[in-house]
Order: sequence, then structure tokens, then C-alpha cells
Amino acid sequence: MATQVKNKKPLHLAKMNIKKGDTVVILAGKDKLKEGTVSRAMPQTGKVIVEGLNVVKKHVRPQGQTRQGGIIEKAMPLHVSNVMLKCTECGEATRVARERRPLGNDQKLRPVRVCKHCHKVIADRTRS
Ligand SMILES: [Zn+2]
Repeated sequence: MATQVKNKKPLHLAKMNIKKGDTVVILAGKDKLKEGTVSRAMPQTGKVIVEGLNVVKKHVRPQGQTRQGGIIEKAMPLHVSNVMLKCTECGEATRVARERRPLGNDQKLRPVRVCKHCHKVIADRTRS
């Protein structure tokens, strides 16, 4: 299966509420209702790769000396609409609100993601 290369650039980047390092619950496909950590977020395509989930077996040809042939397992990207963010505070799969809240030592207003269940700030593991 060849990777599709799209020449078309998206007109705008879709805003995603899910970032690298987040814990998400998968809502569709063979790994439905399983949890995992986002290893890559791709706003260009609106997709995320969840570590060790949505894995397919791929048959690859050997390429010179750098790559061996055989069957490898590869995590395929999932659309953001098929995953749900798990709140770092209450542990519920939740929708996300965006707000500005005072954060850090200087209590400056910063844009943060807020859980719709417990209204607490969802921790961002790519920061701090
Ligand atoms: Zn919460």
C-alpha cells in the first residue's frame, strides 16, 4: 500500500483540540474504546497517531542495506473525530473548551484547554 501524497494544500489548518502526549480514547475501528497516548498530531490532515493502537501489518520490500523486508507493524493515523481526549483531572473522556485563564507564577492569562466535565484546565504535556 503506497502512501498517498496530496499536492493540494489545505486552505486553513483545522484547529485540533488534541496534542502530542495526550491520552485519548478511541471511538471507532478495531481498537474502539481503547486508550492510548498520542505520539503525533497532524493538523494538516486532522489526524493523530496513537501509540500502539490502530496497528496494521505492512508488507515491505527490502530497500538496499538500510531497510529489511518483511512484515512490520505500523500505527495508522486516526481522524480526530474518532478519538476523544481524556481529562487529566477527572479521567473522563471529554469535549474540550478553549478559555483564557491565569496560569503559571505570574498569573498571566493564557489560552488553555478546559474539560467540559470538571471545568479544570487540561494539562499540556508538550509544555512545561
Ligand atoms: Zn475533567
